[in-house]
Amino acid sequence: MNIRAQISSVFHLDKCIGCHTCSIACKNLWTDRQGAEYMWWNNVETKPGTGYPTKWEDQNQYQGGWEKAGDELTLKSGGRGSLLGKLFHNPKLPTMDDYYEPFTFKYGDLTSAPAGNDQPTARPVSMVSGKPMAIEAGPNWDDDLSGSKSYAANDPGVVRLSAGEQAQMFAIEKMVMFHLPRICNHCLNAGCVAGCPSGAIYKRGEDGIVLINQDKCRGWRMCVSACPYKKTYYGWNTGKSEKCLLCYPRQEAGEAPACFHSCVGRIRYLGVLLYDADRIKETALHEDSELAAAQRAIILDPSDPQVQAEARKSGLPEQLLAAAQRSPVYKFVKEWGIALPLHPEFRTLPMLFYVPPLLPVLSQANQGTQKLAEEFFTTLAQARLPLQYLAGLFAGGNLEEVKAVYRRLIAVRLQRRQTSVGDLAEAEVAKARDLAGVSAAQVEAIYRMTALTRIRERIVVPPLLREQAVEAGMDPEEYKRGMGFGARRPPKRRW
Ligand code: SF4
Ligand code: SF4
Repeated sequence: MNIRAQISSVFHLDKCIGCHTCSIACKNLWTDRQGAEYMWWNNVETKPGTGYPTKWEDQNQYQGGWEKAGDELTLKSGGRGSLLGKLFHNPKLPTMDDYYEPFTFKYGDLTSAPAGNDQPTARPVSMVSGKPMAIEAGPNWDDDLSGSKSYAANDPGVVRLSAGEQAQMFAIEKMVMFHLPRICNHCLNAGCVAGCPSGAIYKRGEDGIVLINQDKCRGWRMCVSACPYKKTYYGWNTGKSEKCLLCYPRQEAGEAPACFHSCVGRIRYLGVLLYDADRIKETALHEDSELAAAQRAIILDPSDPQVQAEARKSGLPEQLLAAAQRSPVYKFVKEWGIALPLHPEFRTLPMLFYVPPLLPVLSQANQGTQKLAEEFFTTLAQARLPLQYLAGLFAGGNLEEVKAVYRRLIAVRLQRRQTSVGDLAEAEVAKARDLAGVSAAQVEAIYRMTALTRIRERIVVPPLLREQAVEAGMDPEEYKRGMGFGARRPPKRRW
């Protein structure tokens, strides 16, 4: 065994209110500068919808991630070997239209306009050309038009659904949406790392955070093609690629990443997972429908003495092992089995997991309480959002994976209803728990972690990182200088 540690995350989608505070926290900290206007290392999109960049999930168009070739994995984009052919034109890269043309408003006009009969307005201007423009897209465009069929119908996950399922989704009285916050997944089998011809992208040994060495990056943008989640971006000012660094300088100071810290819905959990690095390839070679389970299987129990012994042999320090035992991510993903990876079929083994949303899926609100448990399960079969859609998002199409999560989430709802309202028969609640394969104590633990925890339980940053910060030798200011943006200064105005 070759045991490694990975800083990993869980986003609980039932709790996301789509406020975008996370995106703004990240923007202010890392991408509020020239050349990075269009970048949203953290973005929140609305599902069903086309996302940012548009239709990023469609790998027929973008050719991101890995594919199986017998017993081998190859990058769909062709990777390093295909660099020469794409030196001057890479048709698989998203264009500015796929992201959006960044814009601002002429706020000065509000105060400097001459007196007149009309209210002064702040017209939108392009941050690229400096000219007035009509805004036609933005990083959360689906959000502004949520539920609209013209956007949701183009969602690659919806296109794959049967006609009946699409009709179910777009029945007007059942219109439904939920928010999907996205950051880099800091994947175990990262496409961006494998695709980089300069060897500039690497996974930090101590915690698995994926970073781009700005001195080595030559701006080939192969990482942009190879990442199926489109979470590396080309900085037109620096001529280098950039990406989410999971706020490692903050973590080295024992603090949560900015988007985690600012999250209004408290949907974000962070902790260490231990995994066997020797099994990455065999895990990624599973069939699509097996990948969610295979990814769970590669994660090891940090409380198992045998795992601990092997981890020590692999050189993992004690503080890291202790932090891994307190990891909320381990609980969500392994112990309770209610968090799934986003698009595991891309085979990058993403280390950000999602608790799929239950509330928008079920329409159960006014059915009375007589047979609530029974009604819940009936509704699951006729969910407002077809479960096949969620299986396409979180389980490589495996319906059973998603159903298993929902049974557990429903068991939590029912047990809590019984505790707080008391109008359900204990037998009914016990039946729901049995069906979901969880104990009453586990349900209580899920409820507490979901609803009652403080930040230090939700976000367990290993103290080790602070010590290794010296070794890593970088602080945020240094990182910025390395990126070429120097001391923070206001972007040059072009209008
Ligand atoms: S999400 Fe994309 S950028 Fe992030 S590690 Fe995975 S492949 Fe690389
Ligand atoms: S801050 Fe939290 S609740 Fe708000 S959009 Fe971001 S993830 Fe969702």
